[in-house]
Amino acid sequence: MRRISIFGATGSIGESTFDLICRAGGPAAFHTVALTGGHNVTRLAEVALILRAEIAVTAHEENLPALREALAGSGVQAAAGTQAIAEAADRPADWVMSGIVGAAGLVPGMRALAHGASLALANKESLVTAGELLLSTARVHGATILPVDSEHSAIFQALVGEDLTALDRIILTASGGALRDWPIERLAHATVSEALAHPNWAMGARITIDSASMFNKALEIIETREFFGVRPDQIEVIIHPESIIHSMVGFTDGAVMAHLGMPDMRHPIGYALNWPQRQPLPVARLDLAALGKLTFRAPDETRYPALRLAREVMAVRGLAGAAFNAAKEIALDQFIAGRLGFMQMAGLVEATLDRLSAETRLGNAAQSLEDVLAMDHLARMRATELAQDITT
Ligand code: NAD
Ligand code: MG
Repeated sequence: MRRISIFGATGSIGESTFDLICRAGGPAAFHTVALTGGHNVTRLAEVALILRAEIAVTAHEENLPALREALAGSGVQAAAGTQAIAEAADRPADWVMSGIVGAAGLVPGMRALAHGASLALANKESLVTAGELLLSTARVHGATILPVDSEHSAIFQALVGEDLTALDRIILTASGGALRDWPIERLAHATVSEALAHPNWAMGARITIDSASMFNKALEIIETREFFGVRPDQIEVIIHPESIIHSMVGFTDGAVMAHLGMPDMRHPIGYALNWPQRQPLPVARLDLAALGKLTFRAPDETRYPALRLAREVMAVRGLAGAAFNAAKEIALDQFIAGRLGFMQMAGLVEATLDRLSAETRLGNAAQSLEDVLAMDHLARMRATELAQDITT
């Protein structure tokens, strides 16, 4: 029986993964090793009981009594804290979903790879903060990273059986997020609830706001560079409001392979779960006649400064990705808390990168996970300090 773990089991990606596991037979088909979550202890326990997990772990120590109580007498172990999540990743598993949001997903993902697991990577922040380390850990331990981000799964699928030396460019599609049709002057006043109204995808709150600001696409450009090993100038972004083409790959002979489908994360998750085979998935069939047309437009970099910042981060490389992601996480926290305007998020990230490049060697390659975590910590401190100078 395949042994699986789901990190971030209570989130949007985690729930979609749970749905697919249940449809494929649940505990009769999979041995569930570890499930992790945050504050939603009731849901974490429910899923752990249904899948008969070995252990359920909440990120927060204060939730341990409630988790213990919910699992009492079931035989499912309960644990809490960041360290316990990392240790859960040391338990041998064949397939691990990396579905935690933010840099918190990095350590468990690395540890799962160090034990040789196939890592279904939704947590793009891992590749942005520590791309080279993650890939080398997988290489050394004979582990596989399977992309789950819809764009990267699309590219991965479009490249199957292809001559990689003939790869010319990668075209990432972007929905444009909730505010894509707003006049640019209004963006400064966008509220959290307005940024959360995504037209096509139901996702966690943080990635939904990042879609509206295109910080999500900025992370994905860097993710593409790291995972597929292409040069930054080979990566293009196009706004495609319908989210039917999940991304495209262009070859030197001019051919462009596109991956199409309805926007449903159960497709890329299911592809990673069944890889290298394909299995039927509960995703609605694409009906092109009903859709009628697919549209495209070029992204405007004054509207989306995050895209320019991603290019600058790729030019520096080294620890710049870790600094960029951490500053972005703080900027997003500040926006959600109402302390920073929507367009001020990019300003804060840029100011943080400027400050860090003056005081450290951002371009130095990370020698270890500790280097990455130290940069993540420093960038969060600097971004928090700099946020105090900016008033909404
Ligand atoms: P979400 O907010 O719905 O869920 C996040 C999960 O992580 C929850 O289980 C939460 O409890 C847990 N978590 C949050 N902070 C944590 C911490 N500090 N330590 C441990 N656990 C923590 O997020 P999501 O939308 O499911 O996204 C998860 C990841 O997948 C993100 O990296 C996101 O960018 C990526 N992703 C999501 C989608 C999507 O459709 N939701 C698509 C592509 C990529
Ligand atoms: Mg994506």
